Amino acid sequence: MVQDFIDGKWLNSLGNTFFPVLNPANGKELAVCPMGTVADVDRAVQSASQAFEEWRQVPVVERVQYLFQLKTLLDANLEEIAKRITQEHGKTLAESRASVRRGIQMVETATGMPTFQMGEFSEDIARGIDCYSNRKPLGVFAGIAPFNFPAMVPFWFWPFAIASGNTFVLKPSERVPLTHQLIFELIEKVRLPKGVFNLVHGGKEVVDRLCTHPDVKGVCFVGSTPVARHVYTTATAQGKRVQALGGAKNFMVVLPDAVMDKAVATALESVIGCAGERCLAGSVIVCVGEDTYSEVSKRMVALASDISVGDGMDPRVQMGPVISKESKSRILSLISNSLKEGGELLLDGRQNVDQLPGYFLRPTVIGNVVESMEIAKEEVFGPVVLLAHAKTLDEAIQWINRSPYANTATLFTSSGAAARKFSAEAAPSMIGINIGVPAPMSFFSFGGTKDSFFGDIKVHGAEAVNFFTDKRTITQRWMADSSIW
Ligand code: NAD
Repeated sequence: MVQDFIDGKWLNSLGNTFFPVLNPANGKELAVCPMGTVADVDRAVQSASQAFEEWRQVPVVERVQYLFQLKTLLDANLEEIAKRITQEHGKTLAESRASVRRGIQMVETATGMPTFQMGEFSEDIARGIDCYSNRKPLGVFAGIAPFNFPAMVPFWFWPFAIASGNTFVLKPSERVPLTHQLIFELIEKVRLPKGVFNLVHGGKEVVDRLCTHPDVKGVCFVGSTPVARHVYTTATAQGKRVQALGGAKNFMVVLPDAVMDKAVATALESVIGCAGERCLAGSVIVCVGEDTYSEVSKRMVALASDISVGDGMDPRVQMGPVISKESKSRILSLISNSLKEGGELLLDGRQNVDQLPGYFLRPTVIGNVVESMEIAKEEVFGPVVLLAHAKTLDEAIQWINRSPYANTATLFTSSGAAARKFSAEAAPSMIGINIGVPAPMSFFSFGGTKDSFFGDIKVHGAEAVNFFTDKRTITQRWMADSSIW
């Protein structure tokens, strides 16, 4: 049974509607997720607000001890968490394991909070006057997560939030609530003081209340661009801090001097890894020069035809299903529209999937993609490789920079000068050079720009402390009566 975790206790949601949680590899129902209400949020925020008063006073070196304990438990339970992710999300076990490891790295980095939150000091800024800054936690933060990384994404936020002295309310995606049920069982074992970290399940009603509740000081969101924009405008209008990460359309550019076999294999993995359901997934592969296009398309079709598709629990499988029937039909419609708009079907991943019981597609490769096509503009979030032509690197960069999204972009080349130009001129905030998925590690910051990110301060790494604390500056002068010393 999917329950909320509030004030250190497992509680039934007060909601009386439920969302079916299906295994996308076979369509079977695993559980139902309660769709929480305003009242569920209110009791979680009340508990988090009360807990904040004591938690903020716990020395940071003590606060991070809970994270050290949790890291050990997460390591010990990694396999079980990974299986849970594969069951409810569909990605392969290897992909699930890697995503849990990334989540654990966030915990490891957040244990550095005693260093991250150190202040600054200047002596004698004027005669007899010293000045110092320090950081104070702000109160209750909320986290709202997407379906595509059931374990990892919430870890981008909450370890940094609580290590810096805040309390937290997390709402996972209603499509994948089971992974965090398991993670909260581990959190329960480390005996964080009650109310420091709470779990509430639900959908829009819960999100909207978190964005408007007067005691929530800040909101961390990851999901599609329309909802990211809604969360940002709603919560900032209420005076809250917000970091809202949205959707993406990621380009990869191949220059004639790229190491072709490695470039094509890396680009394919970027597009089809996690069945394309990654915000850093490559989508349009822009080939500079006709020879590059022919070489990339020939190699791409050969490699993509060989990918084994099936239930991610089977270790031989390289690509799992997409999340739902609706998601599959949306991808199928994008593919058929692209063919009407002049795309060339080089590999048809719609074939030979009917014998598989879940929401499967095989890798699809579409050639002759141009900027005006719907599929070249929309986020596909599925295993579809789009091949396009450009005459020059400048032309490719200009196309990338016209996209309303700006999450990530990659260049495949052997030229340092080309790499330098691309890193400087391409608009997305996360750039890969011969790297298909340039996901910053936990100790760097993560996040795009334009319609891929709404906010000012990026997530995780040392920058997290800026989002989760108020930096204060104290200017002091001591009036001395030295006659009494
Ligand atoms: P989504 O926007 O549908 O849902 C995200 C969260 O918002 C869920 O918790 C959901 O319950 C809630 N929600 C959904 N509709 C809502 C509404 N109308 N009002 C208020 N809340 C609502 O996204 P998704 O389909 O779960 O996730 C996929 C999307 O997330 C993709 O666009 C992907 O690019 C994006 N994503 C971005 C990043 C990034 O770093 N930029 C990372 C992961 C995923």
